[in-house]
Amino acid sequence: MNYISTRGAGIGERHTFSDILLGGLAKDGGLYLPAEYPCVTAQELDTWRSLPYADLAYEILRKFSDDIPDEDLRSLTRRTYTASTYSNVRDHESASQITPIKTLGVENGTTVSLLELSNGPTLAFKDMAMQLLGNLFEYTLAKHGETLNILGATSGDTGSAAEYAMRGKQGVRVFMLSPHQKMSAFQTAQMFSLQDPNIFNLAVVGNFDNCQDIVKAVSNDHAFKANNKIGTVNSINWARVVAQVVYYFKGYFAATQSNAERVSFTVPSGNFGNVCAGHIARMMGLPIEQLVVATNENDVLDEFFRTGVYRVRTAAETYHTTSPSMDISKASNFERFVFDLLGRDPSRVLQLFRDVEEKGGFDLAASGDFARVKQFGFVSGRSSHADRVETIRDAFNRHGTMIDTHTADGLKVAREHLIPGVPMIVLETAQPIKFGETIREALQREPERPAAFIGMEELPQKFDIVSADPGVVKAYIAERV
Ligand SMILES: *Cc1c(COP(=O)(O)O)cnc(C)c1O
Repeated sequence: MNYISTRGAGIGERHTFSDILLGGLAKDGGLYLPAEYPCVTAQELDTWRSLPYADLAYEILRKFSDDIPDEDLRSLTRRTYTASTYSNVRDHESASQITPIKTLGVENGTTVSLLELSNGPTLAFKDMAMQLLGNLFEYTLAKHGETLNILGATSGDTGSAAEYAMRGKQGVRVFMLSPHQKMSAFQTAQMFSLQDPNIFNLAVVGNFDNCQDIVKAVSNDHAFKANNKIGTVNSINWARVVAQVVYYFKGYFAATQSNAERVSFTVPSGNFGNVCAGHIARMMGLPIEQLVVATNENDVLDEFFRTGVYRVRTAAETYHTTSPSMDISKASNFERFVFDLLGRDPSRVLQLFRDVEEKGGFDLAASGDFARVKQFGFVSGRSSHADRVETIRDAFNRHGTMIDTHTADGLKVAREHLIPGVPMIVLETAQPIKFGETIREALQREPERPAAFIGMEELPQKFDIVSADPGVVKAYIAERV
């Protein structure tokens, strides 16, 4: 399997899965994709139907990572996808399924279900990919006798998923910046209660944008970056995307009896990483009818899928909503889909994303390419705070199921795209406890708390307060690596 950049640099060069695992952008600023998508045969689909999650992950990942010996990959997936890691289930019988499916009911002739992706250590779907990444990083670094220092900024979900995935891993340290006293008590406790010596929580006196600016400043200091082996784990990381392909297959098998059936997925979307994995599953041959992109008030993606106009937002145009993990001004993985939409023409992708940088966006409405969005199965919708509250209430009162705000955005939009006879699977991206305030507003009751999290806020916390100054953060890192 060879990987290429969406902007065309290095055509003819060879990049394996392991080559691109630890990096971010390609050197021309593009994103990596396989030179061609591997296909699944009807026979493979038949045999995969009954596989446990870890073995299904092995079968899918080996198509993308043929430079990792089979027996090593098998042991990595078996260590990653264990019932004990994904044990925060609400129904105890389902932990061994890793991503259990929960049927809500039949609406308009369609079975609507939730695919539970948030039973991992930090109660959000990012654990699904990040846990694999932790094991892959440790494996690859050991093989080459290297170390890596991960620097990141978080307002909640990504940072904690990264820390729980990397804790105790040989050769890896994590330096995670978060805005001091601006995360919820739950999120703060989740990150700061980690006592592992390779995890460093830096509480930055400032806001999330300050944290992001510091990461950018440090990453732009190329000498510092190289000397201190600085890396990232952001959502454009290819291994994260491909790890997410697995649960589309798992969800498909759980919702169907035979491979003659088709299903639709609705995906609460921010940076387009999750739904990009659905697109790849579909390109591989998984019988997906629709991929429904659900956004909140930050509707960059909904606007594109409705009109063909991609217009990134300024900071002032970006809303802070009650589904904060979908609050984006641009979607960092979107370029991967645009590459396929344009028939994999890197020179056009380069031009369009130059337009994004110079003019703030592009318009494909008049081009024949936009019409092909439908052929790729994409539709979209948006949801507001009032919709979230209403949907959380409805799911609880009608189906007895408590859902989080992001999943509520998904369910709201899913209902606008039901096709009779085609099961609709909504991806559940977080558990309600993470966004308790809106649960209390909608239901006048406390969110469900998994047993492992009882009393978490009372645990001792380990963190260091730093000023919003790249120099201070650099010195902090240099003293510890
Ligand atoms: C990150 C996140 C999303 C958005 O996923 P993308 O891959 O960025 O589209 C949605 N919901 C939750 C809870 C998240 O943490």
